[in-house]
Amino acid sequence: MSQQINERWAFRSGWLDLIQEAQVEIAALPASWKARLVGGKEKFGYLRLTIEWHGRAGRDRIDVITERFRKRSRTVCEECGKPGRLRLGVSIAATRCDNHADFAAPFRADDGLIVDLPPIGGPIYADGSQGSYGQQKAPAS
Ligand SMILES: [Zn+2]
Repeated sequence: MSQQINERWAFRSGWLDLIQEAQVEIAALPASWKARLVGGKEKFGYLRLTIEWHGRAGRDRIDVITERFRKRSRTVCEECGKPGRLRLGVSIAATRCDNHADFAAPFRADDGLIVDLPPIGGPIYADGSQGSYGQQKAPAS
């Protein structure tokens, strides 16, 4: 593998099944798009896929696939593939099962309250509400 390829792929083996499922979906896209999965990285506890394709028409469908696998990865332990959730550590966010949760320790006080750190907007809380990045949600008292 070249250095460039290594930089495009960075996640633990628990997500390999997700990658294989994504490959199947991408292979089912119109052949003229020449779509292919060229990268997958862990970011803020989720899997961010990089898909290349030809033409502009496919943008919406590519975005749907990318977002669906991003959301699914928040429920799969990146380490082992078992059910997991976002763990918020003081210095790291990671999706892990109970057995592998210690990877993110020590935990922030709001670990378990935030279920997603999407790329746009703000953190999504367990109750479904969304905060705003750069703004602390007032602690419940
Ligand atoms: Zn695990």
